[in-house]
Amino acid sequence: MPQAQPKVKLLSMTPHALAVIYAACRQCYSDGWADEIFAKAVRGEIPKEKQEELVRRVLASGHESVCEHVSFTFAISGISRACSHQLVRHRIASYSQQSQRYVKADDFHYIIPPTIAKRPHLKELFEKTMQQLQVAYNEIVTALEKEGIKGEKAHQDARFILPNACETRIVVTMNCRSLLNFFALRCCERAQWEIRVVANEMLKICKEKLPAVFEKAGPKCERLGYCPEGKHSCGRMPLKEEVFK
Ligand SMILES: Cc1cc2nc3c(=O)[nH]c(=O)nc-3n(C[C@H](O)[C@H](O)[C@H](O)COP(=O)(O)OP(=O)(O)OC[C@H]3O[C@@H](n4cnc5c(N)ncnc54)[C@H](O)[C@@H]3O)c2cc1C
Repeated sequence: MPQAQPKVKLLSMTPHALAVIYAACRQCYSDGWADEIFAKAVRGEIPKEKQEELVRRVLASGHESVCEHVSFTFAISGISRACSHQLVRHRIASYSQQSQRYVKADDFHYIIPPTIAKRPHLKELFEKTMQQLQVAYNEIVTALEKEGIKGEKAHQDARFILPNACETRIVVTMNCRSLLNFFALRCCERAQWEIRVVANEMLKICKEKLPAVFEKAGPKCERLGYCPEGKHSCGRMPLKEEVFK
């Protein structure tokens, strides 16, 4: 029953992402057609810097719908079910998650939170509990199978005793606007540590691939210039009350 580490890999993103957003921006103000603007941008007839400059300006003015035309697809592994439950609360996205019905958890991997991992007596208790749950899960599956309840029918009921710590794997696709919202909420110090790790990894990739959209992305305080979290603030930005008093 090994421990798991979070991994985030970019599977794909919209091709010619900058040109797509640039053409969408230009379409709003041009009597030309986005198709021609896009083709020119892709051929390099409109310099990349010019495309980026317009995209930055439009996004800075709050017109974020233009970046909905570009999506990123990530494969994520080594995260807990506790983490994936938070991830899938972000509704403007598509998900495909490893099933605990179709995939037998007879050797489940798990995530140990750092606070527990660094305290030997808690780590020992945690690991012992995982082993006990594994034994109980295997016993339930075996007993159900003996009675003819097999495969997914056995797994779907035995999984009720699996912990939040269980590793899961998930594919997520979000458009850039949803990603900006996701980073604003989940890169914030108030977010849970594990989803923050995932969000920061995704942000690193997005910044590298599409800086004109993501260079200023991150916790919501980055864009607001203040922290709206009141007494829960981490202190890296002045509080909203201080800025607006
Ligand atoms: C620090 C932190 C603590 C949290 N604590 C809790 C908690 O205790 N309990 C809990 O249940 N959740 C909690 N959440 C989850 C949170 O409430 C959101 O469900 C989650 O962050 C998804 O955000 P979202 O709705 O903005 O994203 P998405 O679902 O991706 O939505 C994106 C945006 O679309 C719009 N939108 C989407 N759906 C609707 C709709 N139906 N109607 C109107 N507008 C819509 C909104 O503008 C929304 O911001 C917490 C989140 C964080 C970051």
